[in-house]
Amino acid sequence: MTNDAIGADLAIPAAVRSLLADLWTRGHAAYVVGGALRDLLAGREPHEWDLATSALPEQTLAAFEHAVYENAFGTVAVRRGGDEYEITTFRSDHDYADFRRPHRVEFGTSIEADLARRDFTMNALAWGGEPAWTDGSGALATTVTPRLVDPFGGSADIAAGRIRAVGEPRRRFEEDALRIVRAIRFAATLGWTIEPATLSALGETAPLVAHLSGERIAMELDRLLATERPSVGLRLLADTGVLATISPDLAAQRGVTQNKIPGEDLWDHTVRTVAAAEAASADGTDLTIVRLAALLHDIGKPATAADGHFYHHEAVGADLADALLDRLHVPTATRTRVVHLVRQHMFRYEPTWGDPAVRRFLAKIGPDAIDQLFALREADNAGSGVPRDADDLAEFRTRIAAELAAGPILDRSALAVDGSDLMAELGVSEGPELGRILNALFDRIVENPRLNTRAELVALARTLAARPGQGSPASGARTGPDAIASETAGPDELSVQLWPVRVALEQDVDATLARLAALGFRRVEPFALVVYRDRLRDGLSRHGLAAPTAHVGLLGEDLGPVIDAALELGIGTLIQPWTDPVRWQTEAGVREVARELNEVAATAGRQGLRVGYHNHHFELASTIDGRHALEAFADLLDQDVCLEVDTYWAYAGGADVPALLHRLGERVVALHVKDGDGGLDPSRQVAVGSGSLPVREIVAAAPHALRVVELDDTAGDMFDALRDSRAFLLDGSAAS
Ligand code: ATP
Ligand code: MG
Repeated sequence: MTNDAIGADLAIPAAVRSLLADLWTRGHAAYVVGGALRDLLAGREPHEWDLATSALPEQTLAAFEHAVYENAFGTVAVRRGGDEYEITTFRSDHDYADFRRPHRVEFGTSIEADLARRDFTMNALAWGGEPAWTDGSGALATTVTPRLVDPFGGSADIAAGRIRAVGEPRRRFEEDALRIVRAIRFAATLGWTIEPATLSALGETAPLVAHLSGERIAMELDRLLATERPSVGLRLLADTGVLATISPDLAAQRGVTQNKIPGEDLWDHTVRTVAAAEAASADGTDLTIVRLAALLHDIGKPATAADGHFYHHEAVGADLADALLDRLHVPTATRTRVVHLVRQHMFRYEPTWGDPAVRRFLAKIGPDAIDQLFALREADNAGSGVPRDADDLAEFRTRIAAELAAGPILDRSALAVDGSDLMAELGVSEGPELGRILNALFDRIVENPRLNTRAELVALARTLAARPGQGSPASGARTGPDAIASETAGPDELSVQLWPVRVALEQDVDATLARLAALGFRRVEPFALVVYRDRLRDGLSRHGLAAPTAHVGLLGEDLGPVIDAALELGIGTLIQPWTDPVRWQTEAGVREVARELNEVAATAGRQGLRVGYHNHHFELASTIDGRHALEAFADLLDQDVCLEVDTYWAYAGGADVPALLHRLGERVVALHVKDGDGGLDPSRQVAVGSGSLPVREIVAAAPHALRVVELDDTAGDMFDALRDSRAFLLDGSAAS
């Protein structure tokens, strides 16, 4: 079947026509084939021109000056006018043994046979011809009248925007499973539909995709994700079962419910997020990364789903993404970055953050990943049906830009001292100790860039070297607002409740804060916030103390003064310290407490404040459906409501505290750490480490929670007990 009428006026570029003519004059048949012809007939801009010829590779090489052998399949690359063209000898394929490419190719003599081995009718067209013997003498005509060769109805399918396998679809996909993925990629990039018989064959053969190399899948996935409407391709991947072959974890997102857009499941959310992901740089080069991260950002959710929550899904997801991208042989740089973005995509900014907190965030993410992380989060927001810049993203972006403009120190190489300086000054030798000191210095400089002078750092390093096992300086020079970080800190930062020193506090707030600072504490957790607000205001900054958390009555209270006090003192997390034990005896009671706290959290959340709950023993001693009431409670809390687990009272209430902390997961942002005999009499409490609780095991079970030292009472001197508790915990953090 040929169609001379269409072929005559095709806009084949002059360079391509001249390549054809060169082959024709040497007596070879030559045609334009493949995607360029398809694109041309579809009214799209072709991006590369492939030729097929009866000439053997050696003959093609001989016909052109700038020609090189491309591969073992008879392809020769020819350069002309700055462009490269691929010229391939007619082929007929044999022996598809392992669902991949043919084991053996045979050179053919006819364009029809060559087209018959091609994948889809739209790709199985040719335009060109072969020299004819025009007179009886056997002389070769020098002109050829080119024609369109269309044995499979490709032009009709192109006109209809239809993707149809050449021949029997199922057999063709079994021959080469790459065609399965190509069909879906073409549907996505061209925006065409897959013809029903071809589509059902895709579903039947989808498992064969497992035989393909990771690179080939990744290449198609890449092109699919980069299209204007990637949702088309993603839906097809899922609906045909190809997705389940490539990534069972992603496929498992179907049917997982979450409270985002009504009626939509987790997979719907992923598809929306990918579609909403935009290039993070103006030239579009990051689109692949951001789209890939969008595709994988919630890959950890199916595995972590529990009662409407997905604890640690970003950490689990990062590992799953890493494994998948490794299987797909994605370049290491891409894989590392995508995994990083998946791991960090749940970041939570609070407008109350001090500048050091913004710098710490920048240092953790890395300045060159920031734009991508924001692009991902904006897409995630859009995919969740909320405004792109929800969660104060716009404000956060502005603050990050300001920090970047100020030139913050973002890696250790910018420190005013290096390892050899310290070895010379302090006499420490190379090894983990030196690394520990450099890390601690770096943390201090992120906190306060003004300390980045050689003299300051050497002095700081001396105090650090003198305090083995301590990740962060206890009493380095820190004054002014830069020293106040208002978000919770890493494991080596301790806080202390003011409740243990309530008697001293009532007499003299300033002197009490001074004593705590002298013990080395840099963070405190006030109680009765509204009452102490004015007296704390000056004392905190004077003694270089920050209050990331505070205890304050929230339920049934007027929140106005509470919120004002928190904002003024830079407190990010407000904690309800107590509720009536009666309420914890029934499920209805627990539900009611949760509802009230969720409500307060929503109000405080609008001011950028987080709300949490602090337990005693009765929330553990009471059980609901065989679980501690506190756990039932945790399941009823909104996503952003956190817990401060009082580990002593949880223990006294009968909990296996490390197991409890594991189960509660990342909702636990702070721990109250104290020790004693585990009984209900507070006066028998002692410094952490000198009682009978398995404190090391307990704190290790919540590595990211802020440790707050708190004794309700003790027989000896309270300040001594706090000092000893601090020493024990800092030692412990070095040991773990
Ligand atoms: P594009 O370059 O826009 O992706 P294309 O159709 O040109 O589309 P190529 O991968 O460049 O795709 O392949 C060129 C031609 O080779 C195709 O048009 C098709 O005829 C044929 N082809 C490519 N891959 C296969 C395959 N796996 N099985 C059969 N034929 C194939
Ligand atoms: Mg091509």
